[in-house]
Amino acid sequence: MRQPRPLATRGAQRGPRACADAPRPRVCGVSAVAAGRGAQRGFEGELGRALQRGQFRLVYQPILRMPDGGPPQFEALLRWQHPRLGAVAPDSFIALAEDNGQILHIGDWVFRTAADECLRLRRASGQPVRIAVNVSPLQLASRSTLQLWVQYLQGIGLPAHALTLEITERVMTQRPDQVARHLRLLGDAGFRLALDDFGSGYSNLAMLGQFQLDTLKLDRSLTRCLAHSERHRTITTSIVEMAHQLRMKVVAEGVEGPAEATITSDLGCDYAQGYWYGMPLSSAQVAQRLADAA
Ligand code: C2E
Ligand code: CA
Ligand code: CA
Repeated sequence: MRQPRPLATRGAQRGPRACADAPRPRVCGVSAVAAGRGAQRGFEGELGRALQRGQFRLVYQPILRMPDGGPPQFEALLRWQHPRLGAVAPDSFIALAEDNGQILHIGDWVFRTAADECLRLRRASGQPVRIAVNVSPLQLASRSTLQLWVQYLQGIGLPAHALTLEITERVMTQRPDQVARHLRLLGDAGFRLALDDFGSGYSNLAMLGQFQLDTLKLDRSLTRCLAHSERHRTITTSIVEMAHQLRMKVVAEGVEGPAEATITSDLGCDYAQGYWYGMPLSSAQVAQRLADAA
């Protein structure tokens, strides 16, 4: 299994106060909102051109099976290398891309790039590498997008079960009957489906009741409270038990230190992800790591 890493500091906060108001991590502090309206329009235009200018890339954060590490698994996370602003965090532009529809093109690029990378890593390492891809509600609403994804995988020869599609409860803002049909289409095609950010919202339970999903990802807001809050440990124990009864695996997100690593494992989480286990890596670093482990 991997070597535990020194604690990373980016976005990491500990202690009871962090449970109430810890901010989401950012790659840089630029926010489209803070930049003002005129600048925001410029930002939106730049975002629209970023794809064709090759300014996006994916990084891959390890997801480890407890307690042995398991087969290599990663979550693909989008990065925008802005020529002037530097690295812009996805939190600063995903919502904008969802509002103006650009997420369909960007998300398509993410899907294909992650699929290509997964195939490349499988071939190079001989291991059953899996990659999780974040999917926005607008993408899930587009049946033609999903059908093109299935065709794409058939074309390159990657089994769909190599990819997990991470969705959030926000898909419930679309028509639930349509969401259900599209999730079934994806499940039938072989994709694994994960419910992301569980514990951070309100409709998560409704989603579990309506849809057959494979994995539940415990939100960082729960994980970071486990070391010092009995109440959060009780909540997490119940969530894990419920997920297992629904035959779902549980991933603990945002594991930043040894205490959280031990507790999430003790509470029965099947997988863990976070700075303690590994920062997001470039594709070259992932390939190197798999080669070193061979
Ligand atoms: P997410 O899906 O919950 O992804 C996990 C986020 O938590 C990532 O931030 C990751 O770098 C960060 N993280 C991982 N481990 C730790 C930890 O131990 N502590 C802390 N404090 N943070 C940790 P990132 O890359 O900035 O992404 C933020 C969000 O942007 C993602 O949250 C996801 O909602 C969205 N996003 C990222 N890539 C994509 C994408 O390709 N498509 C879509 N639609 N959304 C994306
Ligand atoms: Ca995610
Ligand atoms: Ca998440």
